[in-house]
Amino acid sequence: MTSTDSSDARTDTRSALRADCANCFALCCTAFGFQRSADFPLDKPAGTPCSNLTEAFSCSIHDALRPRGFRGCTVFDCFGAGQYVSRTLFGGTSWRERPDTSAAMFGTFAVARQLHEMLWYLVEAAERTTASEHDEQVKQLRGDIRQTLDGDASSVLAFDVERLRADVRHLLIEVSEEVRGGYASQDVPRDLHPSADLVGRDLRSRRLCGADLRGAYLIAADLRHADLTSVDLLGADLRDARLDGADLSSALFLTQMQVDAAQGDRSTALPNFLRRPQHWPG
Ligand code: SF4
Repeated sequence: MTSTDSSDARTDTRSALRADCANCFALCCTAFGFQRSADFPLDKPAGTPCSNLTEAFSCSIHDALRPRGFRGCTVFDCFGAGQYVSRTLFGGTSWRERPDTSAAMFGTFAVARQLHEMLWYLVEAAERTTASEHDEQVKQLRGDIRQTLDGDASSVLAFDVERLRADVRHLLIEVSEEVRGGYASQDVPRDLHPSADLVGRDLRSRRLCGADLRGAYLIAADLRHADLTSVDLLGADLRDARLDGADLSSALFLTQMQVDAAQGDRSTALPNFLRRPQHWPG
């Protein structure tokens, strides 16, 4: 790590970027919609409370989400945007108390979640880079996002997320190349590339170190006991991927959502800032 973390603790430390549902007005259960699918048993339009949401903003089936077919709820992460919007930007007044604010609150949450997600990746970029120019760019982008979030709800709503996303994406690719540069390209199998279709692929015990699997489709891939050291997994789809015994401890840009969507066990090595999902055995 080349930078000291002088950023505002309110918005862009790892702890501030973790969901705190007790301090949120269940924005993910209300603002966003979902469709009947493998992840949800029914349709819910955006902007309406889920039928399982209680008056106290908790979930009445929290301990049975997967058995009840709400798997999608167990893999969602707001990156701490829920409590930030609820408590900081809307001052602790809920959409139930002030229904007239609900549209603005839900819209702000949708933008703030994207900003928080970018901050999550930028925190990791700062930790992984040793290049001063990357470090400077990370600081600049974190500062831009923080400045927006430190404003009011209307400034968040009006923010040009797409322009920023392009800048963040460019920087993350550069940091990824820097980190993976320690691995000779001829050592990385040719079929392992960004957006690769690796659905159901048997990659058991493979040494994948330094591969760029950004946006790859690893749905139900068998990665048991694979070595994913310095593998870029930004946006990779790991739903039902088998991770038993796999080493992801220094994989790049891995999120809790990806881990929660996969299948692993107690021998799966995760980065120290991610937790082992409750549904994993052992
Ligand atoms: S099932 Fe529970 S966690 Fe999922 S959206 Fe409904 S209230 Fe929220």
